[in-house]
Parts: sequence; structure tokens; C-alpha cells
Amino acid sequence: MMSPTHIVAGPVLAIPVLVFAPELAVVAAVAAICGGILPDLDLLAGEHRKTLHFPLLYWIPTVPAVVAAVLAPAPATVGAALFFLAAAIHSIVDVFGGGYALKPWEVRSKRGVYFHRGQRWLRPKRWIRYDGSPEDVGMAVLLAIPGLRWYADPVPTLVAGALVVAVVYAALRKRLPPYLEPIVN
Ligand SMILES: [Zn+2]
Repeated sequence: MMSPTHIVAGPVLAIPVLVFAPELAVVAAVAAICGGILPDLDLLAGEHRKTLHFPLLYWIPTVPAVVAAVLAPAPATVGAALFFLAAAIHSIVDVFGGGYALKPWEVRSKRGVYFHRGQRWLRPKRWIRYDGSPEDVGMAVLLAIPGLRWYADPVPTLVAGALVVAVVYAALRKRLPPYLEPIVN
């Protein structure tokens, strides 16, 4: 899935905070947005879907952080919990997208997400055929609704910005390979 889809999913993950501790909802949503971005920073350095994607390891900080947030809800505890939770979930849901390749709609890459503990690539499920596919945009639009409607600023602004990027990225997706060639290996 493309990064904007992970970004707009942040406020969805923060819905329990919105319900039970609404005063912390914006902190929770922004932290989840940041955590959702984190794994894809390996596009910039290292190996994408491997260097910062940890389908298992992110749960090690996530579980105690969620427990701490439930026992002592405060901006720091809730923020940390949502940050790690979003990174953990991002690293898992990428498996349900397409494989990592220059033209993932042509090539059936076997690289979904790297499973560090097993030292192997998890096969992509291709429920979302490739990042920026029509179904990826559709999912981004659906996931964006809570962030746009239920949260105070800056959450709707961030979500709307991500949605614009999602639509533009998807529209240009099949023209991007020549520009992505230096990054995708
Ligand atoms: Zn990713």
C-alpha cells in the first residue's frame, strides 16, 4: 500500500482514544500518523519493506506502550502507544498489498515484507494489487473518513493532504517507473 493509505489509517487506529479519552484524541491520531509513516522512511535509505518494516519486532514496544496508555492515559503514553501500534500494523498490512518491484502490476515480485526473525520475505497477498492501484485509492478514501470528520485540527488537514497526494500518486503511478529506477532495486 502507498504511504498516504497508511497515513489516513492513523486516525482510524486512534478511534478507541477518541471514544474513551477524547481530550487525547488529536495527540493519538497525530502519533499514529507519524508511526504509519515511519516504516516507509526506508524508501529513503536502506532497503524498502525491509530496513524499517518489522512485522514482529514493533510489537515488543507496542504491547507495554498500550498497557501503559490504558493504565495511565496521558499525551506521552497514548502518543507512544499509537506511534508503535501504527508502525506495527503498517508492517503487517503491507503483506496484503502487491510485491515490491519497479512495475508491480507487471511483475509478480515475491517481496512483500521482510520477516527479520525468519530471515525471509513474506509473500505478498496482492489483495491490493499494487501501491497506487484503484483499490488502494478506494481504501484510502474510506479510511480517511474518520480523520476528516471526527477529529479536531490539525488531523483533518493532515488527512486531506494525504488524500490529495494519494489521488495524484495513483493518477501518475504507471508513469513513475523511470523516475523510481534509481530507488527500486
Ligand atoms: Zn510500507
